[in-house]
Amino acid sequence: MKNFITGGAGFIGSHLSDYLLSQGQEVVVLDDLSTGTLANLEQALKNPNFTFVEGDILDRELVAKLVSESDRVFHLAAVVGVNLIVDEPLRGLRTNIHGTESVLDAVREHPRPLLLASTSEVYGKNTADALHEGSDRVLGDPLKSRWTYAAAKGIDEAFAHAYWNQYGVEVSIVRFFNTVGPRQTGRYGMVFPNLVGQALTGRPLTVFGDGLQTRCFSYVHDIVPAMVKILEDPRSRGQAYNLGGAQEISILELAEQIIAQLGSASEITLVPYDQAYGPGYEDMRRRVPDNSKSHELIGFVPNTGVAQIIDAVAADL
Ligand code: NAD
Repeated sequence: MKNFITGGAGFIGSHLSDYLLSQGQEVVVLDDLSTGTLANLEQALKNPNFTFVEGDILDRELVAKLVSESDRVFHLAAVVGVNLIVDEPLRGLRTNIHGTESVLDAVREHPRPLLLASTSEVYGKNTADALHEGSDRVLGDPLKSRWTYAAAKGIDEAFAHAYWNQYGVEVSIVRFFNTVGPRQTGRYGMVFPNLVGQALTGRPLTVFGDGLQTRCFSYVHDIVPAMVKILEDPRSRGQAYNLGGAQEISILELAEQIIAQLGSASEITLVPYDQAYGPGYEDMRRRVPDNSKSHELIGFVPNTGVAQIIDAVAADL
């Protein structure tokens, strides 16, 4: 089985590469190394079943060639991270919309199964008890700085459904909810590695807003096998599946747990959102996945709790 992964030098994509290589499969990664690094692929690069191609998903000819040479496709390349999205909204829109279009067109031309990486952000400000794939989706206010990421991913999903309905492109969608683990860096505003890094180096832990916003962090090693299973199940075509963690925790509680678990002397500093990201920035108060649809399809159960994730992230920094 030859797998083509866009964005495979990034956090989730590099773990996916390692996982598929460990199964004796071939992997080809296309990545422009904008946020991904070859260090993430250190093990993979030693494997004869692995090929790295440096390039841009907007290069339609290259994408079509790599798709045509593969058996299935995982599309993960995207401009990710709140800092990048706020600082470079146009690059985010261009890559995250036209990049996906380029992959979908290539798969339309060369039919094979395609997994599309989407996000819980498509649920917008919806703070329902648990977000189900059928939950109302409100993409929010286009004048808010973070809107471009959620909107682009929402448009990607709309493209995917249209390509499935109109052209029979075998696309399945997964919506990640705050996936964390080794190799995720805090450079672009990812809260988990940022807080762990601050605790390990004795700096104050910066918690935005009042810290009472909650998340369900999911561990990358729970998510990666689930992605593969979903793609392998033909019932997933034209469908979206939540992949999230099971333990709801506020960011303030997370910071406290990190300090206690790592024996850090750091303190916690609350930073107003507008001070960090400029006026108008808003974050979701609550983001809890309903994983029942993924559970029904592939038996998905996110087993790894926050304490184990803290240890794994700390060991990697
Ligand atoms: P990441 O930034 O580590 O990975 C994205 C990769 O895409 C990077 O290696 C980057 O260099 C590459 N890339 C960006 N633009 C490119 C381009 N034009 N051409 C080729 N490569 C390009 O982020 P990640 O957390 O691994 O995210 C992977 C996917 O999962 C993304 O589509 C993201 O939107 C989605 N996602 C992630 C999370 C999460 O919690 N980590 C949550 C929701 C959705």
